Amino acid sequence: MKTVTLPDGEKVPALGQGTWMMGERRDRRAAETAALRAGVELGMTLIDTAEMYGDGAAETLIAEALGGVRDQLFLVSKAYPQNASRKRLVSACDASLQRLETDRLDLYLLHWRGSVSLGETIEAMEALKRVGKIRHWGVSNLDTADMEELVAAGGGACVTDQILYNLSRRGPEHDLLPWLEEHAMPVMAYSPVEQGRLLADPALAHVARSVCATSAQVALAWTLRRDGVLAIPKAGTVAHVRENRAAAELVLSNDDLAALDGAFPRPRDRRPLEML
Ligand code: NAP
Repeated sequence: MKTVTLPDGEKVPALGQGTWMMGERRDRRAAETAALRAGVELGMTLIDTAEMYGDGAAETLIAEALGGVRDQLFLVSKAYPQNASRKRLVSACDASLQRLETDRLDLYLLHWRGSVSLGETIEAMEALKRVGKIRHWGVSNLDTADMEELVAAGGGACVTDQILYNLSRRGPEHDLLPWLEEHAMPVMAYSPVEQGRLLADPALAHVARSVCATSAQVALAWTLRRDGVLAIPKAGTVAHVRENRAAAELVLSNDDLAALDGAFPRPRDRRPLEML
């Protein structure tokens, strides 16, 4: 499996597993559990979740599905902005740890920016790191100016920005991706298949047919084409997980990339970071 390197040199798989909307429906639980386990067996050991997902239900599902292989995982969770204060981050983190049935998170993210100052959140994250409850911290949905502000506020230890980035959301290529690359911070691309909406696109399907792959695989391979970008698709079935895993081995040619550029051009002007 291709890897991405964190600022401290630690390597994580370039393809992980998202969990938004998982753990919420009893009739899907067995399939979701099997999907997460299959993904880990195939090397997709980076698992992304959040206290928000199903009000903790996704974290509980992860514990149930993957508790036995905890030490193989790189577990990522996220805190609500209203919990990102000195006072509240400890209890939000403790609650996530309890639901995940673990003693540490590998990465803890601020889910999006709220009214708590970035400086206070940095302090709260660093305090969690000192006591060993988290190994790294980062942010999500922060645009370039927010990242500048974060670093100026003492947040140089941030390891990633998790953002909406896929074929139909190329705005970050203007300045956010170059900024993150310059600061050696990998990008975690969320909704890499645009929650399934990309998959009906005829131009994407055309490229997929020409490389004997599926639309999902081409969309994922496109996201992974840049060094320093990792993708976290959510898949609720073993079949989708297997299909996605194979995308990490798919290398698109310059012609394929040109065809995709034609169908999904980068926006001409800079635009604010989008989020879902
Ligand atoms: P996504 O991964 O782009 O799309 C998920 C959808 O695509 C599901 O409906 C899934 O169906 C389908 N899918 C996956 N693989 C497929 C395949 N090979 N063939 C056909 N359909 C496939 O969207 P997402 O869940 O929004 O994003 C991924 C993860 O990023 C989330 O789960 C979450 O962990 C994270 N995220 C973070 C933020 C943030 O603000 N930081 C926001 C959004 C998402 P099945 O379930 O049926 O497989």
